[in-house]
Amino acid sequence: MVTIATDTVKFSYGSAPVLYDVTFRLETGTILALVGPNGSGKTTLIRCIDRILHPEGSILINEQNIHTMSRNDIATTIGYVPQNGTKITAATVFDVVMMGRTPHMSWRLGEGDINRIEYAIRLLNIEGLVDREYNELSGGQQQKVLIARAIAQDPKLLLLDEPTNSLDIHHQLEALATISDISRSTGMTVVMAVHDLSIAARYADMLMMLKNGTIVAIGKPEELITPERIREVYGVEARILHDPEAGLIVAPLRAVAGVAL
Ligand code: ADP
Repeated sequence: MVTIATDTVKFSYGSAPVLYDVTFRLETGTILALVGPNGSGKTTLIRCIDRILHPEGSILINEQNIHTMSRNDIATTIGYVPQNGTKITAATVFDVVMMGRTPHMSWRLGEGDINRIEYAIRLLNIEGLVDREYNELSGGQQQKVLIARAIAQDPKLLLLDEPTNSLDIHHQLEALATISDISRSTGMTVVMAVHDLSIAARYADMLMMLKNGTIVAIGKPEELITPERIREVYGVEARILHDPEAGLIVAPLRAVAGVAL
């Protein structure tokens, strides 16, 4: 399983800088939630780690720079669940989940591949959808299929970009509990962009709060989430509650005028 270490990662789209000096280290099996307002750089950071974008600075996986890894090493190491709305050319749900096995397969599906595809389909409870066309599903159903594809891939590092934003609360909890169980049992490291701070606090070991492309804070959810920080980062007055089962809950009260986002 893998560690990630980044050193002064900077990225610009053209001349507009979007990430400044992003430096952090994650140990094997850690679940990190990236949080922060819209446009703070969460998606961009995920796309840099997946090698879709080429930032300055370095990103190391198990101490190896990702730009020196082969395509196949990257494909067997990193799973990526993009934001909802990602288009896929005509394919059934089974075919989409099967795509997750491509980096592991020789020229045909082996028994191990089929077992892993069936396991992912079962975990996400999408048995009833396997023969449907992916493009005809609802946004939430598509999101579950893309998570199943990533689980079929059996990555050592899973990147998820707002994996639950089209899911109702039942499916949010189910999907995040599944990802968290896999991480606990296999040591898979997870980096996910999440909007809901209560959900992030519940499922992540560590939070990274980004604002305008800079890390404002990184640490354990209960240390990092304070009313002062939520006001500074989101421009929102909030109360932090603690429930014995649900854990830390962020109750937003009102938007504060005059805080620059
Ligand atoms: P987040 O995921 O936190 O909402 P993003 O990483 O998507 O933030 O965006 C960070 C900034 O980069 C925003 O200002 C956004 O407008 C800009 N941006 C994102 N994608 C592109 C792109 N393809 N071209 C130019 N600017 C972009």
